[in-house]
Amino acid sequence: MQPTLLSYMDDQHQLEGCATVVRLEPEARDGLTCLILDATLFYPQGGGQAWDTGLIQGETGIFAVQEVRFVDGFVHHYGQFREGSLAVGAEVSYTIDSTRRRLNSRLHSAGHLLDEAVKNLGLAWTPTKGIHYPGQAAVEYEGAVTDTEAARAALEAESNRLIQQGFSVTAQLVSLAELPQHSDFIPPQLPDNKPIRVVRMGAQKGTPCGGTHVKDIAEIGPMTIRYIKAKKGMIRVAYDIPE
Ligand SMILES: [Zn+2]
Repeated sequence: MQPTLLSYMDDQHQLEGCATVVRLEPEARDGLTCLILDATLFYPQGGGQAWDTGLIQGETGIFAVQEVRFVDGFVHHYGQFREGSLAVGAEVSYTIDSTRRRLNSRLHSAGHLLDEAVKNLGLAWTPTKGIHYPGQAAVEYEGAVTDTEAARAALEAESNRLIQQGFSVTAQLVSLAELPQHSDFIPPQLPDNKPIRVVRMGAQKGTPCGGTHVKDIAEIGPMTIRYIKAKKGMIRVAYDIPE
C-alpha cells in the first residue's frame, strides 16, 4: 500500500477533496473506526497543531472524522459512521470543518509571527518548540531574558504592528539539499517520510513547516502575549488570539 498522499502540503487552503478508501479498520481504537484514503487534505495532529475534523461521504455511507493522526506514512482518520458504511475501493468526497481549521491555522501562524517579532527586536532567542492548541498556545526559545514584563510588552507591540501591516504567507516544497538556500533554521529531526515544505512570511527567509497557515498574517487578528517565563535558559512565550 502506498503511503498517503499529503494533499494539504500542496494546498493548505483547499478544504474539500475526492479520494479512494484504501483501508478500513472497524473498532481500531476506543470504539472508533480507522479509515485511510489514498490522498487527504485532513491535517493530522503534528508540529504542535491540532488535527482537523470533518465528513467523508460516499455512495453507501457518511463517516464523521473526529481525530486524525499520522502513523508510519499513513494518515489515519478516526471516527464513526453517521450513516451506512464505506468499503475499500469506494470513491468518496470530503469536507473539512473550516471553523476549526481556521482557528488552528491562525494560532499556528501566530507562532511563526512571534519568531519574526523576536528577530525584529534583536533578541538572541532560538525557537525550540511550538504549541498551537487553543487556550494553550506558546513558543519556547533557548536564550536569556532579564526583564520578562518589558520583553512581553515589546513582543506584543511588535507582533501587533506586523499583523496590522499584514503580509502574505507562502509555502514551497523543496528537497533536503535545497533547504539551506531557503531557510536559516535546519531542524535537527526532519521527518524522512514527508516532503519538506518551506513556509515564508513576507520576503523573509523561510522555515521548514508541515502545518497549515493563513494566507495573510493580518488574518491572525489582535494578538495577546499572555506571559513570558524564563527558567534554566528556556523562555516560554504564551500567546492568544481571539476566536
Ligand atoms: Zn508553520
